[in-house]
Amino acid sequence: MAYSNKTRDLFAADIEEIKSKGLYKEKRFICSPQDASILVEYPEGAEKKQVLNFCANNYLGLSSHPDVVEAAHEGLRERGYGMSSVRFICGTQDIHRTLQDKVSKFLGMEETLLFPSCMDANAGVFEAVLGAEDVIIADRLIHASLVDGIRLCSAEYDTFKHMNMKHLRKKLELHQDKRTRMIVTDGVFSMDGDLMPLDEVCALAEEYDAMVLVDDSHASGFIGKTGRGVHEHFDVMDKVDLITTTFGKGLGGASGGCVSGRAELIELCRQKARPYLFSNSLAPAIVNATIKVIDLVSASTERRDTLEWNAQYFREQIVAAGLQVGGQGTPIVPVMLYNAKLANDMASDMYAEGIYVIGFFFPVVPAGAARIRVQLSAAHTKEHIDKAVAAFAKIGEKYGIIGLDKKGIIAKYGM
Ligand SMILES: *Cc1c(COP(=O)(O)O)cnc(C)c1O
Repeated sequence: MAYSNKTRDLFAADIEEIKSKGLYKEKRFICSPQDASILVEYPEGAEKKQVLNFCANNYLGLSSHPDVVEAAHEGLRERGYGMSSVRFICGTQDIHRTLQDKVSKFLGMEETLLFPSCMDANAGVFEAVLGAEDVIIADRLIHASLVDGIRLCSAEYDTFKHMNMKHLRKKLELHQDKRTRMIVTDGVFSMDGDLMPLDEVCALAEEYDAMVLVDDSHASGFIGKTGRGVHEHFDVMDKVDLITTTFGKGLGGASGGCVSGRAELIELCRQKARPYLFSNSLAPAIVNATIKVIDLVSASTERRDTLEWNAQYFREQIVAAGLQVGGQGTPIVPVMLYNAKLANDMASDMYAEGIYVIGFFFPVVPAGAARIRVQLSAAHTKEHIDKAVAAFAKIGEKYGIIGLDKKGIIAKYGM
């Protein structure tokens, strides 16, 4: 290796620092397809264990659905393994167009452009659409990929307090002198499991002549009466200008993302968005499987209805068991523990009970707001959920937090 041991020690010290802060991420290996029940090797080298998975974004249970897997096989057979090209050179097949059209129809948007991931969609859209004479006004808790995309764009960046419409109004007033204003938000905030009130956001946008971009990665396919997303839930499907979303969560779980919205904005992305121009196009197998997913979720609401029931049932049962939860109306249910070590220790004990969940703490969530984030899936049965609740009740008892409120837990364990 070219670099010296002295340089090597520098990086080793960085890694040690991560460990000493308790922020080190262990390796975990899943030795089965993604599903409600999975085979896990954790820690590395330990004996494999079958556990119930309550931390995947497999909201609709489509990650290993036989129809979706078969559609991927078909894509592979009919259209080959890969495109060996970016979209605009020779990386666009007719099935890419088919998927774009189906996504537009599903989301109720004029046009759609596929990207290798939603992270790439977010990396491309702002720079393609906005310039230095514009302003972005974003919720303070937007997803990291939005923050990164905004950094790549020369528009002025301002924020409003999380879900605070009064503050958003103030910022819109402040920036009336700009060429355009873009309000940026997640539809569902993935750490808290709460929904942005898009009806209020869109009303303010109209009042102050702003456009609205929503990242609906944790909503597409299951939030709203027919699963179109948070804009359907709040009945503003015709008001949102741009939606970015992923195919890597509810919509199949492999990879890929898109920007969907007003035709002229999508055209600008096609001309200028750098991940579209400089990164390989989505593989035919994934495109074909995602077409199947959109067909499935368009044809029936059965999966999103099951998911809604599961989420509601888990929420009721876990509250009845005496634990604190946050959020509402989404399949993300954060079990609030406030203290990072407590969240970590309880997650380990849950794993011993056969329930796979993860503790989240600073810097992923604010300090003093540690939690175990539980995510429900349409693939979970009532028995799965009952087992998870029973395990939480047992482990909660062990740590003496059953029936304690926020103050009580913090008094016992600190922040
Ligand atoms: C997961 C997620 C992304 C990233 O999606 P990928 O397709 O995996 O890159 C972007 N935005 C939000 C809000 C997400 O939750």
